[in-house]
Amino acid sequence: SNIIEIRDLTKTYTDGLGVKALDGLSLKVKRGEFISIIGPSGSGKSTLLHMIGILDTPTSGTILIDGEDVTTMSDKERSSARNKMLGFIFQYHHLLPDFSAIENVMMPLLISGKNKAEAREIAKELLKKVGLEDRIDHRPNQLSGGQNQRVAVARALANRPKIVIGDEPTGNLDSNSSDKIYELLRKLNRDYGQTFILVTHDEDMAAKTDRIIRIVDGRIVDDRNLF
Ligand code: ADP
Ligand code: ADP
Repeated sequence: SNIIEIRDLTKTYTDGLGVKALDGLSLKVKRGEFISIIGPSGSGKSTLLHMIGILDTPTSGTILIDGEDVTTMSDKERSSARNKMLGFIFQYHHLLPDFSAIENVMMPLLISGKNKAEAREIAKELLKKVGLEDRIDHRPNQLSGGQNQRVAVARALANRPKIVIGDEPTGNLDSNSSDKIYELLRKLNRDYGQTFILVTHDEDMAAKTDRIIRIVDGRIVDDRNLF
């Protein structure tokens, strides 16, 4: 079954110039797919990710996530669906600077109601998974860019989201760290079976995913499976 089903999605930003960022876009994503979205700057990639991430609402069209239409939900339902279903990785790690790696990963777990001991256990396991078991008490300014992005990946996975969204997740890293993050995401996708959707400018990274969706002017112009 499809984890995401988007039908005839349109988004027109009513502020500014009234740009039609998405123009009748339809898309089906199967559970466990590892997908990249590529396209020129301004083509609508971030807008599409915001829609899938339940961060913004479309002008028209429907978005089913795990069978539920998120476009008709109340704000409260949207926020609950977002917390339950989605993990986010951004270009910059957005870790809290005054907290250690493990505290940063514990944060979403505590927010979703886990007690401190449980949260610590899960966070420790995840940091081990991303190869940082010997850095759990370091703060962001004591870690490299690539290590911080690993912490951000662990944090995104904390609540076991069904869908992990990455907006240029390696955009801020050198090519060596970038490859390592890519390998890590791939391993997590294999081990946990979560669906990954990555927006990237990096054609080499896109070529290593299972499916490349190319967007131009708010429409899908190419959609190919690579495996
Ligand atoms: P991409 O991620 O591919 O660079 P975006 O989705 O950010 O593209 O943008 C698509 C189009 O929508 C662009 O023309 C952009 O300027 C416009 N846009 C994006 N976000 C907003 C916004 N919040 N308000 C107005 N226009 C926006
Ligand atoms: P990206 O690099 O992800 O495409 P941008 O740097 O273009 O993002 O935009 C940064 C933020 O500003 C995004 O959240 C985007 O939605 C928003 N944005 C982009 N274009 C516009 C615009 N024309 N007006 C208002 N906000 C915009």
